[in-house]
Amino acid sequence: MRIDLHAHSTASDGTDTPAELVATATAAGLDVLALTDHDTTAGWADAVDALPVGLRLIRGAEFSCVAPDGRGGDVSVHLLGYLFDPASEAIIAEQVRLRDERRVRLRAMAARMAADGYPVDPDEVLASLPPEASAGRPHLARALVSAGVVGNVDEAFRRFLNGDGSYYTGRADTDVHAAIRMVRAAGGVAILAHPAARRRGPVIDTSVIADLAAEGLAGVEVDHPDHSDGDRAALREIAAALDLLVTGSSDYHGTNKPVALGQETTAPEVLERIEELAASSRVAALTG
Ligand SMILES: [Zn+2]
Ligand SMILES: [Zn+2]
Repeated sequence: MRIDLHAHSTASDGTDTPAELVATATAAGLDVLALTDHDTTAGWADAVDALPVGLRLIRGAEFSCVAPDGRGGDVSVHLLGYLFDPASEAIIAEQVRLRDERRVRLRAMAARMAADGYPVDPDEVLASLPPEASAGRPHLARALVSAGVVGNVDEAFRRFLNGDGSYYTGRADTDVHAAIRMVRAAGGVAILAHPAARRRGPVIDTSVIADLAAEGLAGVEVDHPDHSDGDRAALREIAAALDLLVTGSSDYHGTNKPVALGQETTAPEVLERIEELAASSRVAALTG
């Protein structure tokens, strides 16, 4: 049985629609695929509707979080949540908070640029967003393109909006402890995504994983394309010491990244354990 527990569709930053993604999964010889778009469950329904015979879909999401880095600072981490109820109050409240927060942040960046004389109107940038849209830097980048400040979105990021750019304003992502509680309260299972993916920036100190395990983290994604053999060995040891599950997944993004669906996989008994945990977590959530 071939199981890939981490993939993105066009509901976030993948290039396959949810329907294309499940077809790709079948073509890749997978038996089980988890759809884990960033901070949204919007792709679930289309993936279910298009589900080919013989493929099982595990509903999930990848939450953007902030964690203590174990060295006195903070670091951005991703938390995979599986089999949670998307209608849970905890999940919805946090999504509303993040959506509002992203709008505040976008306005702050636009206002700082306007104050420096760039022809952007924070109110107009905000007004141009669809009501339910997750506001982000690409929206401001497109406004800068329209205003003729830059030639394209890439240039807007390079000159102004990247993490080290002068107008960058940090995000208030979900505290990872709160995110673990939120996933569990919604009847789901929390797995720390690619904890050693250094190419993406600083990573969490492994000492912090013990605190997350105490909070209810169920496992760590060990086999991930961004992890070296050394990372995998070290993470496997930590997982064994903390009695955490070990997952493997491709983190497929379609043509946005050169990884193939099913390139990394999860053992069937681990998936079984995740499903058992979700079932017991659901009972706990129901009984409060
Ligand atoms: Zn990630
Ligand atoms: Zn991902």
